[in-house]
Amino acid sequence: MCSIIGYLGLSTAAPIIVKGLKRMEYRGYDSVGVATFSNNQILVKKGVGNVLEVNKNEKLDELSGTVGIGHTRWATHGEVTNTNAHPHPSSSGEIAIVHNGIIENHEELKKELQQKGYEFKSQTDSEVIANLLQYHYDKVKEIKKALLNTVSELKGNYAFVAVFEDGTLTAARLHEPLIIGIGKDGYFISSDVLGFVEHTDEVIYLDNREFVIINSSGIKIFDFEANPVQHQITKVSKEFADAYKGEYAHFTIKEISEQPTTIPNTANNTRLELDLATDFIKHAKTLYITGSGTSYNAALIAKFLFSKYAKIKIEPIISSEVQFSPDIFEQQSILIALSQSGESADVIEAVTIAKNSGVKIISIVNMMTSSLVQISSIAIGLNCGPEIGVAATKSFTSQLAVLYKMVDKICGGCINLDLSKVSESIQKILSDHSNIQEIARKLKDVSDIYVLGRGIHYPIASEASLKLKELTYIHAEGLPGGELKHGPLALMDSNTYVIMINPNDSTYSDTLTSAREIKVRGAKIIGISDKPSEVYDHWIEIPQVDESVYPFIEIVPVQLLAYYAAIEKDTDPDYPRNLAKSVTVK
Ligand code: GLU
Repeated sequence: MCSIIGYLGLSTAAPIIVKGLKRMEYRGYDSVGVATFSNNQILVKKGVGNVLEVNKNEKLDELSGTVGIGHTRWATHGEVTNTNAHPHPSSSGEIAIVHNGIIENHEELKKELQQKGYEFKSQTDSEVIANLLQYHYDKVKEIKKALLNTVSELKGNYAFVAVFEDGTLTAARLHEPLIIGIGKDGYFISSDVLGFVEHTDEVIYLDNREFVIINSSGIKIFDFEANPVQHQITKVSKEFADAYKGEYAHFTIKEISEQPTTIPNTANNTRLELDLATDFIKHAKTLYITGSGTSYNAALIAKFLFSKYAKIKIEPIISSEVQFSPDIFEQQSILIALSQSGESADVIEAVTIAKNSGVKIISIVNMMTSSLVQISSIAIGLNCGPEIGVAATKSFTSQLAVLYKMVDKICGGCINLDLSKVSESIQKILSDHSNIQEIARKLKDVSDIYVLGRGIHYPIASEASLKLKELTYIHAEGLPGGELKHGPLALMDSNTYVIMINPNDSTYSDTLTSAREIKVRGAKIIGISDKPSEVYDHWIEIPQVDESVYPFIEIVPVQLLAYYAAIEKDTDPDYPRNLAKSVTVK
């Protein structure tokens, strides 16, 4: 979701902070702000818009001072306005904070603080942190105690960074990520390594229920019970620094194009974990799999793979639904949790509920430093490098690669999985996709797209429709082909486009029949198949592959189609409106 960053060091803070916020833009946000400590006072500048716009109008990076905090907001409480943008100063202006997350008891706290004379300017939940800190600081005149008293009263999920009137930088976390960077001439604190990776690769991952106090004499970390905490300094992989678009116009197309490399690379560094996981699975009483959005579509594919090849039943559950049926979990069972970021609040909650029922967790994650990895028994890395585009592309095919590897191991190699062949076929699609660009032009003014697939191709249809929604804002729906006659056929007319996921396997002729039924109602048909047909108004040819691996091959043309349709519609494919990359709020 939003990003927070703090800096204390020898350099001027504001330009470092603005650059860090720019690097973390992919996380999704609506407004931006910076506060610095300079000449014994706290200066704040903020506004609605993207980092470059707000910086141009407000000159954020011209704020003086060598201590500062910055924020990109993804509004949860209070409209998207300049006043609601962070940082929020306390009513006396002696403390300013930036916050990521939600303070659940903000209304009660606000009332109490108002009665004590503290004033509020914004509609946000976050402003209570500034005034609560100020209240306790006024009482005890000691930063550590003020922080302890504050965190003991706050309920909800949060990571916040605060700058105090004496130039001390502090931060605390509860169920939201926070990472400290140790640079040569200063300290950084951020929700994402990308916020400071160009300055240092030495980091400390703050644990949940910990806070940090940083000033010119160094850095001190404590837990919420006031005990000092020692952390090892970890070196982060330089690949984080790869988060540049290079020659590509957008991260999304860069990431789509990386798939021939990322798919065979998947899980390469975690072979041991994969072995261990398959052993766990073989002995599990019941098997569940969970995820949100794209990850849930990968979970649906897993259901087909496990039953067809491993002859094991696995139950997919949408992560945000788990809280409404917490009793489904049986002892001695396994939950496989899928999340690119490893910070998705819905997935973490589902995992926590399962763990409380005695279920073991195997997570499949891209960010191996994430909260999900920490609470899992086994974590398998996607190893596909940073994914910046908000709509998941390469992380989806890497999730599939892990799941395929897992199932292939369990069934003793029965899939005969050859990911380098998969990679060659995807490269073929990528090297010549001018027809996809042409079709994308036709989708510009279309209001509804349906995507049909049967069997294992239905989750791909569902994932395809998700890409179209996210990138083009066109209404899109994924359907199991057979469901057409049970309702959706009523919607087909000459303004509708229907994409048929129709490779040459056992689903082929039924799906072709559906295409005919749609065509006679006037809708336009886009066929994604290795076999041509006169029914298709547009044919997107995919290479012939072993039928077990079609899902990898057939999603790529739709990723491309959605990307180019976004370009035609002049929407930003990397940062779709209202969406965030890492959904850390419920
Ligand atoms: N809940 C806070 C707000 O609405 C912070 C949201 C965020 O994480 O950006 O301002």
